Amino acid sequence: MSNRYLIANWKMNLPPEGITAYLKAVATEPAGNVRVLIAPPFPYIDNIAGETKLGVAAQNCADREKAALTGEVAPSMISDCGARFVILGHSERRNLFGESDTLIARKLAAAIAVGLTPILCIGEELRIREAGQVATFLAAQIRAASEAGLDSVPEIVVAYEPVWAIGTGRNASGIMVADTVAHIREAMERFWPARFKDAPLLYGGSVTPDNVDDLETNGRIDGYLCGGASLDSGKFRSILRGMQRPSATP
Ligand code: PEP
Repeated sequence: MSNRYLIANWKMNLPPEGITAYLKAVATEPAGNVRVLIAPPFPYIDNIAGETKLGVAAQNCADREKAALTGEVAPSMISDCGARFVILGHSERRNLFGESDTLIARKLAAAIAVGLTPILCIGEELRIREAGQVATFLAAQIRAASEAGLDSVPEIVVAYEPVWAIGTGRNASGIMVADTVAHIREAMERFWPARFKDAPLLYGGSVTPDNVDDLETNGRIDGYLCGGASLDSGKFRSILRGMQRPSATP
């Protein structure tokens, strides 16, 4: 069975209650078999990794180790600061910063080369869903990632994040998620090394304490990447608690 994950993607925000109070509150919540990761903005990674036993992820990295790239952060620097994971291919990076599948594959390769575990985000825009092209679109994103040479990575985490559900308050239903992750798993089986057909597959997109039960019961997923709700330790803990209830997908 895959690891289960709950990841707080703070984006370019900090929790209003303060970092230390937030980390303490989250760390006191029993996590069972769920690995809880915090993905803060780059400048906070070092301190957070030193302050908490929770896992730490970066939200992005450069596609190479050494170059004159003003404003970029090399994967090894992230690892030096104590993060073991890196989110790549988030739709905000794809859409607002023009990151292509090709660039994301290069970033994956660079992250893997220094031993970071990638959290690869994939997801369709509403027009793709309305045109009935979700399976083909997501399969192309999965196939593009295989260019990174995934053979040498011990673990890869995938986050299915439909673009229309991110930060909109409109989440995919558990049944819709289950249907879509079945397509994603088919593509992973087809395009990735065999051992990744069961890689942890998370859902992200307006997850809250109110919809986690439906996602847990029907979604057939291994956890969540949370944005907005992750900034409040109370909401984030409540989602974590939701993952421990008996209704949770086995
Ligand atoms: C995200 O940014 O990865 C995300 C899922 O955001 P939100 O939970 O706010 O939709």
